[in-house]
Amino acid sequence: MPEGHTVHRIANSFNQNFAGQKVRISSPQGRFTDSSLVSGKRLVVAKAHGKQLFLPFGKPIIRIHLGIYGKWSFQDFKSEAPAPVGEVRARFQISNHLADLRGPTVCEVIDQDEMNQLLSKLGPDPLAGDTTGQSFEKFISKVQASSRTIAELLMNQSVVAGIGNVYRAELLFRAKVNPFVPGKKISGEVLTAIWEDATKLMPIGVQTGMMLTREGFLKGAPQLEDRYYVYKRAGEKCRECGGKISMELLASRKLYFCKRCQK
Ligand SMILES: [Zn+2]
Repeated sequence: MPEGHTVHRIANSFNQNFAGQKVRISSPQGRFTDSSLVSGKRLVVAKAHGKQLFLPFGKPIIRIHLGIYGKWSFQDFKSEAPAPVGEVRARFQISNHLADLRGPTVCEVIDQDEMNQLLSKLGPDPLAGDTTGQSFEKFISKVQASSRTIAELLMNQSVVAGIGNVYRAELLFRAKVNPFVPGKKISGEVLTAIWEDATKLMPIGVQTGMMLTREGFLKGAPQLEDRYYVYKRAGEKCRECGGKISMELLASRKLYFCKRCQK
């Protein structure tokens, strides 16, 4: 499932290619029946929060959540747009550029009130660029109010928005925090460090499109198996202590960690 950095990259793409322009919106597959409500309107500014993408066309706003299978493809073209390939839920098109959306969990038209309501239910997003510190205070108080494990809380979009399975595992390893500790038992200092680390790592994901979490691997495009400390490395040697990386199912998601480093 795409993590928050992917959705922020898509918002950036929309802002570079479509913002300020009248966009033709269609549903080649026929399932986005509200496309006619927004087609021909001007895109204001695309906004991502966690895994949610909002495309405001004046009053109507398109909300998109990719879910597990959703995918975007962006394409330049010269005179005529290429025919849609596969099940395209929504096509966004201007004179020389198009974006096709396939397989999202949600693609719907909402209004500002509904968007505000949705945002109020989401936790702060480390990529939202909040410099007031309110976001991380909200994050800390939500975590410390819960007796669920920190591993579950980091994936809970109402606690913090945008973190998925990869960043969850890597952030906890980097902080040397045991993933099974309940949120309420973790100090503000440790949670501040995790938040700050997320605000440092996730923008690299937005910039490069890769979840790079190891220092020294921030240039070029390292192989998948070199990118992470623990994610998808069950049974392999821990890069720090040499012990074996563990994998356990937690809330039916695979959780990777090092028992020795994360006591
Ligand atoms: Zn280790």
